[in-house]
Amino acid sequence: MREVERASRERGLRLTPLRHQVLDLIARARKPVKAYDLLDSLRDTHAGAAPPTVYRALDFLLEHGFIHKLESINAFVFCEHPGEAHQVPFLICDKCEGATELCDDGAVAGLIEKRAGSLGFRAKAQTLEVHGVCRDCRSG
Ligand SMILES: [Zn+2]
Ligand SMILES: [Zn+2]
Repeated sequence: MREVERASRERGLRLTPLRHQVLDLIARARKPVKAYDLLDSLRDTHAGAAPPTVYRALDFLLEHGFIHKLESINAFVFCEHPGEAHQVPFLICDKCEGATELCDDGAVAGLIEKRAGSLGFRAKAQTLEVHGVCRDCRSG
């Protein structure tokens, strides 16, 4: 969280209390979080938290690379290195729903962008989600 606060300050972003709280909930969850779970948790403290408000907060956090969206399970995870926006492959466990950022310095994303470019395709967003079973679940 401290890294996020620093990054926001440096970039002059406004981390409103609601955005801060949404981020905090995602950061503290050990699994990817769905929007309606966030809404449930927020209603305890923000009585008037409506879905559009939460979605706007999520959009803000996504846009600035503080969280990632996992399209295949429609959930959000905290970014482990929120220095700058980036695209990384994710490993998603189908048993425990844990998600791990596959940190590769953008090697895979770069390769896809290059191959897409060679076909004249201009890539804007990439979603790379690898499903399987994690080490803990395999040995369990
Ligand atoms: Zn990340
Ligand atoms: Zn697992």
